Amino acid sequence: MASIILLFPELPGVFSRFLHFFCSRRNRSELECSTMAVETVVPTAIANGGKLGSAANEKHAEKLRFIEEMTADADAVQEKVLAKILTRNAETEYLRRYGLGGATDRDTFKAKVPVVTYDDLQPEIQRIANGDRSAILSAHPISEFLTSSGTSAGERKLMPTIKEELDRRQLLYSLLMPVMNLYMPGLDKGKGLYFLFVKSETKTPGGLTARPVLTSYYKSDHFKGRPYDPYNVYTSPTAAILCTDAFQSMYAQMLCGLLQRLDVLRLGAVFASGLLRAIRFLQLHWPELSHDIASGALSAKVTDPSIRAAVGELLALPDPELARFVTGECAKGDWAGIITRIWPNTKYLDVIVTGAMAQYIPTLEYYSGGLPMACTMYASSECYFGLNLKPLCNPSEVSYTIMPNMAYFEFLPHGYSAPEQLVDLAQVEIGKEYELVITTYAGLNRYRVGDILRVTGFHNAAPQFRFIRRKNVLLSIDSDKTNEAELQKAVDSASALLRPYGASVVEYTSHACTKSIPGHYVVYWELLTKAGRSAEALMEALTREGVMERCCLAMEEALNSVYRQSRAADGSIGPLEIRLVHGGTFEELMDYAISRGASINQFKVPRCVTFPPILELLDSRLVSAHFSPALPRWSPHPNN
Ligand code: AMP
Repeated sequence: MASIILLFPELPGVFSRFLHFFCSRRNRSELECSTMAVETVVPTAIANGGKLGSAANEKHAEKLRFIEEMTADADAVQEKVLAKILTRNAETEYLRRYGLGGATDRDTFKAKVPVVTYDDLQPEIQRIANGDRSAILSAHPISEFLTSSGTSAGERKLMPTIKEELDRRQLLYSLLMPVMNLYMPGLDKGKGLYFLFVKSETKTPGGLTARPVLTSYYKSDHFKGRPYDPYNVYTSPTAAILCTDAFQSMYAQMLCGLLQRLDVLRLGAVFASGLLRAIRFLQLHWPELSHDIASGALSAKVTDPSIRAAVGELLALPDPELARFVTGECAKGDWAGIITRIWPNTKYLDVIVTGAMAQYIPTLEYYSGGLPMACTMYASSECYFGLNLKPLCNPSEVSYTIMPNMAYFEFLPHGYSAPEQLVDLAQVEIGKEYELVITTYAGLNRYRVGDILRVTGFHNAAPQFRFIRRKNVLLSIDSDKTNEAELQKAVDSASALLRPYGASVVEYTSHACTKSIPGHYVVYWELLTKAGRSAEALMEALTREGVMERCCLAMEEALNSVYRQSRAADGSIGPLEIRLVHGGTFEELMDYAISRGASINQFKVPRCVTFPPILELLDSRLVSAHFSPALPRWSPHPNN
């Protein structure tokens, strides 16, 4: 019964009266009250967090019991989630098309509803974006689009969402600190320095807002009006987080972090790349920040009135001692361990370093002096999936437990594409890799997310997954995801500039270089010169006319909008670099691969390289390096 109440909160009659009684008595939010109702019948054997451990307080215990309950009953919860989604969305155009005839069971659903990708849903999504308010995908009105960092035809994917999804997202967030407290108690005695940002938003032709999921969350009342919780006190004022000007937002968040440096017990950003940008910002702007602290006055560069008001409360008086300290640490020019030097009470970094972000682990270790890195959750614009129940484990060991209440999950064994191969959450096998397929309350049905996950174990009956990789991603620095076709298109577009010089690109490969912050794309080109012209003469002409630099920019202009936004608006990716290598380099690369066992018949130049000996080989054959001289064009309005 507990799960029924949670999953069917709008059920009439006795259930809702019971629920109402409970909610009003405890004065909880709608979400919490449905959770509370579940907990009323949780067996006492799993009281106080059960297997997970001892909670800090009753509120944390409730959350831990919720995790226990959901994971203990994973399969039953999934069955009910699917039934609820299908009942609610039975009359949508999409589900009617497949003739479910009111059925809400898994077998009928699997037999009738196809497994789809974003491109399959484009027509429906376009109609919603254009203003069609009929129940196309979801019976509940689409409240906005969440713009994914995954792209389709060069533009961000638009994920439809409904209002109540915010509750689900908040529910997942509310589970994080109760779990973290099991491993790191005392976090209520200080604050978190989190670098959190909103991004620009647009309207679709039909008037729906389109923005990233985190922007939607930070701008929601769920975030802005969150009640005081000693475990979730941030040094950043909400006004600074909500400012769309990236410089002002970062400046204010860093300044507030410095002013409260001894209170900081944890430090983070959503992704590792974001935290490294914050460190880079400190490296570049510490003189101004110290000056503000010494004078007790906020830099005139920060003009947003609400930020000025919020920071003004903290920066009321000059603090020359703190300013001297910040200057002393930053002026040394030695940035090793800077995080623990400035924020000495930091116990861990709260930042995702799994998947594409693993490339930043060594740099973060350098700046933090080896602090633990906690990857707490796994989420996307489509759906928030789950959390890490051992958040302080080594990054290479991180596994996420998918919460069965968030959506209906299916798993396509990696390498297979037949829909009949899909298995349910509770049926996956340890050691196997799967692609995640989701059915959401907001109207995605059997949607392929594109993430490849490996099962590492179970918590109760819920499987735990290691994030292996995102399908088809060749290069990624921040939230950008560039695939092989996009890279090819960019090389084609740029190499057209060589034609007047009688040259072409014979071979190329690429690398995401993260040695500097922000990281940047490096593309290795080997050129072919037309007969009768020496390589030296070609180079001389290309250099004289700045052709290679123009090629770098042309490549950037041809890459997808997430890349261009990261470059032009966020500054989270540095200028693209083309490294020209000597003629014959790629043949050497092939010889090297064959010497290591590659088949001569099947060898194809890898379009992205990470293996250090190959990178060394390429760099040892360098002729010249060129950088993009300007920012690529980007507009928040995709069709401009
Ligand atoms: P977006 O659609 O822009 O919200 O990006 C969501 C994607 O980011 C997911 O599908 C994953 O590929 C990736 N992602 C999210 N959380 C994690 C995580 N904890 N570890 C690795 N990759 C993640």
